[in-house]
Amino acid sequence: MSNIKCNHTYDETGHCFECDKPKPVTQNERKQQERERKRAAGLVRIELWLTPDQAKTVRECAEGLKQADIFNAGKLKQRSL
Ligand SMILES: [Zn+2]
Repeated sequence: MSNIKCNHTYDETGHCFECDKPKPVTQNERKQQERERKRAAGLVRIELWLTPDQAKTVRECAEGLKQADIFNAGKLKQRSL
């Protein structure tokens, strides 16, 4: 049996029924898992084609929004005290 190559049939835990080897995770699957984690965290992906200058401005705005959200969350907490 040991010289016969296992065909790997994976169970729901991602391990082979026959040899118990874990299912290899491809680059695409890893990327997909990362996207699922981010969606689960309530994040949304946006994609834009911009000039380098526009991209710089959008990044600065996005950073500002992140900081504003933290700031607003702090304000709300202070108000409720
Ligand atoms: Zn196997």
